[in-house]
Amino acid sequence: MAIKNLLENCLHLFYPHQCTGCGSDLLPKTNMLCLHCLHELPHTQFATQQGNYVENIFRGRMNVLAAHSEFFFSKGQLVQHLIHELKYKANTAIGYYLGEMIGNNILLSGRFSNIDYLIPLPLYPDKEAKRGYNQSAIICDGIQSSTQIPVLLNNVIRRRATETQTRKHRTERWNNVDGSFTVLKPEILKGKNILLVDDVITTGASIEACGQSILQVSGTSLCVAALAHATK
Ligand SMILES: [Zn+2]
Repeated sequence: MAIKNLLENCLHLFYPHQCTGCGSDLLPKTNMLCLHCLHELPHTQFATQQGNYVENIFRGRMNVLAAHSEFFFSKGQLVQHLIHELKYKANTAIGYYLGEMIGNNILLSGRFSNIDYLIPLPLYPDKEAKRGYNQSAIICDGIQSSTQIPVLLNNVIRRRATETQTRKHRTERWNNVDGSFTVLKPEILKGKNILLVDDVITTGASIEACGQSILQVSGTSLCVAALAHATK
């Protein structure tokens, strides 16, 4: 036991275990965040609230059974820092950890029942290759660990508009977003209830475009979850 502690202390010297939020090293080995940062996290409680802000984003645009965003997003605050870590610092562990929180809350809410698959909002392939991972897929892995709902990858894909389309006028290009998501094997989704997962929802345009491509498959229904939502 003493040797184990000694080893851990040595490891701590070389690989200090620090809070991803504030850098403090006063935290249990299994936690990503210290108690102070955990307490600071602005949870929305949207999972339990019918007609919440995120559901209203999609109202009249797309049929969403239930939508959840785990955190309120504000510039310069903790949540922005954590999402930056996930997206730009290869800190996939924090995405997984926060994904587990989403999973626990949707499970407790009872409003996200009978979900068959978690689907991460696909990135453009070149963007994913550059980053090395899709941050939404990492969040899905966390949700899966708390809910046991399987993650479905590589069936819904995202493609860039063709060269001729990208040369079009900016306003026209916006309209083309709808054509950029494709379901490769619709038979897998047929009759399924899908939870579509993103990191941050702002206008909801990408989720809407992707969601519409899923809803084109017969018998599908859709729920939405994100780590955070930003108000305009
Ligand atoms: Zn902290």
